[in-house]
Amino acid sequence: MSPSEAARVLDAADFAARKHTAQRRKDPEGTPYINHPLGVAQILAQEAEITDVAVLQAALLHDTVEDTDTTFLEIEERFGQEVRRIVEEVTDDKTLPKAERKRLQVERAAHRSRAAKLVQLADKLYNLRDLNRCTPQGWSEERVQEYFFWASEVVKGLRGTSPELEEKLRQLFKARGLPG
Ligand code: NDP
Ligand code: ZN
Repeated sequence: MSPSEAARVLDAADFAARKHTAQRRKDPEGTPYINHPLGVAQILAQEAEITDVAVLQAALLHDTVEDTDTTFLEIEERFGQEVRRIVEEVTDDKTLPKAERKRLQVERAAHRSRAAKLVQLADKLYNLRDLNRCTPQGWSEERVQEYFFWASEVVKGLRGTSPELEEKLRQLFKARGLPG
């Protein structure tokens, strides 16, 4: 990776850190939210050996529009059209009811670009590992299991993208008794 590529990736990390500054994860410790997008990008770089700068930037930025005041235009102006497109693909429409958003993720998974599929695979892998690490406050074991089932349905549509990530997800689903 050239110095300018490293700078672009770190600029996305810095942007996401400032945007997510007031947010916490749902775990009982209230881990800073930024740990999640950083971890998603790290999974892509380390476990799937992704070196594409736009994919790594999109991973770092993937929850900024969904969860903060960030706009797609802001992403495009600062990081370019390619990154904007990937972030747009992985952003749920928050005007829709939650159940509908979940249904659409399953329905649309197979139609995503390869870049968006990579970000989604790493996102699911991170969140499932987080759920195995500890249960979010107020979640029953049944709700955790429901989340694993839903994630397995999304991941079915993302197959054929990264053998490494897909195998790790398959193991997690198997441990929960899901076919994956
Ligand atoms: P949420 O969408 O509210 O929470 C899951 C999301 O939270 C993840 O996708 C992740 O998104 C983020 N997240 C933040 N912290 C963590 C963490 N520590 N571990 C894992 N994920 C974390 O919950 P559900 O997906 O369950 O969606 C709600 C649905 O749950 C409703 O549609 C309803 O049907 C069902 N429900 C079930 C209940 C039950 O008891 N069975 C009770 C209430 C609702 P990100 O990647 O964006 O950070
Ligand atoms: Zn996420």
